[in-house]
Amino acid sequence: MPKAHKIHDAIIIGAGFGGMGAAIQLRRSGYDDLVIIDRENDLGGTWHVNHYPGLAVDIPSSTYSYSFEPNPDWSRLFAPGAELKKYAEHVADKYDLRRHMRFGEAVKRAVWQESDQCWEVTTQSGQTVRGAFILTATGFLSQPKLPDIPGIDTFAGKVIHTADWDHDYDLAGKRAAVIGTGATAVQLIPTIADQLAELTVYQRTAIWVSPKADFAVPGAARSLFAKLPLSQRLVRFTGSAVLEVMMVAGVLHYRKVPAANLMGANLCRAHLKNQIKDPTLRRKLTPNYSFGCKRPTFSNDYYPTFTKDHVHLETDPITRIDETGIVTESGHRTEIDTLILATGFDLWETNFPAFEVIGKQGRSLGEFWRNNRFQAYEGITVPGFPNLLSLNSPYSYSGLSYFTTIESQMKHMGRLLGEVRRRKAKTFEVTDQANSDFLDRMTAKVGDSIFALGDCSSANSYYFNQHGEATLLRPTTTLNAFREAGSFDLDDYRYA
Ligand code: NAP
Repeated sequence: MPKAHKIHDAIIIGAGFGGMGAAIQLRRSGYDDLVIIDRENDLGGTWHVNHYPGLAVDIPSSTYSYSFEPNPDWSRLFAPGAELKKYAEHVADKYDLRRHMRFGEAVKRAVWQESDQCWEVTTQSGQTVRGAFILTATGFLSQPKLPDIPGIDTFAGKVIHTADWDHDYDLAGKRAAVIGTGATAVQLIPTIADQLAELTVYQRTAIWVSPKADFAVPGAARSLFAKLPLSQRLVRFTGSAVLEVMMVAGVLHYRKVPAANLMGANLCRAHLKNQIKDPTLRRKLTPNYSFGCKRPTFSNDYYPTFTKDHVHLETDPITRIDETGIVTESGHRTEIDTLILATGFDLWETNFPAFEVIGKQGRSLGEFWRNNRFQAYEGITVPGFPNLLSLNSPYSYSGLSYFTTIESQMKHMGRLLGEVRRRKAKTFEVTDQANSDFLDRMTAKVGDSIFALGDCSSANSYYFNQHGEATLLRPTTTLNAFREAGSFDLDDYRYA
């Protein structure tokens, strides 16, 4: 990256779906001089990084895609991960985004330059680039978490984190351990189990699993989607409605409609009962926290995998790992040659924000969030940080499909940047008042959710930050998020 003092219109950090959506919106708003920086060597974000066996989207694909760029070619209702990566490439080409992208550069810090009214972004290699606006689109689940288990460094066999899968490593006949039973493990375990000689799954917290109504999309339906996009819109609408009931009604609006939560929990319990006849195994696989406290998942083959003779579920906590095995609290030791870490991602410690962001008067965004409460007006802007659109912010995640968040944020950007241009302003900054009013409103709404009213204490859920507050999800309907994105009070911002 050349050292330049040119001020670009905007710098976007992250070339995943969030960053590409932001770029498309900036172009629609009349800003074309964009720089998109990504630490990886290609675009696609999570769908570039994750390629573990069994990876598939677990939101129906017609819903998990941009509404303005429907893809009639999804092979299944829940498309395999590789199709998502291909779709990301298609979007980058169609919207001519590649020319803005710079790969293999991790951003170290971004500092507001008061004198030039712009942001200066510095990468790990010391290069700098300047932009009038910056947009952080670094994802929520992008910093892989390595477990801090005593002795893990002494393990002499193969270690693989699911976010860095090694396809050259042959699993055939291996004695493997999988640590973790989140959504990733639920997809991975059934896919690899049959290749292995022995598989021990270490579960700390059981996950709620509901049936997955997956099927191959018939050719006739794909032709119909291509010829008549409205038909795919209807499928999208249905998928979104189901997700809305599950997540928003069943989880966020628990006080008003507890029945939706009960329905979700009962569906998962019936699914487990139907697939696991052994009561001891069933008890081990039953979550001990309320449905919705952490992200539930969908699978038809996860539970049956545990009925195979060579697959073992270990719920005794791990105390240490040595050169060739894992030892649990009861002293039981399992010999392994392959250690698979399905241990997820670190959100709150390392991802809010994903690099140092210094705003006006030297204010650090990370410190502001940690010393005060995690907050962002409409989940996108923060007082003291002019011209910053922080796309992965507290209260920004709306609904279950990430594309709901992306598109409501695009709408907010469109309205805000339209006003910036109308006023011929150089800067925008959300007011303290608007920000604190929004925070108060979200805090009150979280009080109606399962997070406040359910039993979430043992869930170990990333929906909660390090202070025990559920500040990740926007606790409103997705319709409300869209409505506010298109109608927020323009005077909630100062323009200069
Ligand atoms: P995760 O949900 O955070 O699960 C990590 C698992 O590792 C948990 O079971 C956790 O146990 C366990 N773990 C972590 N550290 C541990 C330790 N030191 N000892 C023992 N166990 C440990 O991560 P994930 O499964 O990668 O999924 C993350 C998110 O990615 C999902 O919620 C979902 O949003 C998304 N995802 C989406 C898709 C899709 O759409 N295709 C697929 C996969 C994932 P605790 O629960 O006790 O902490």
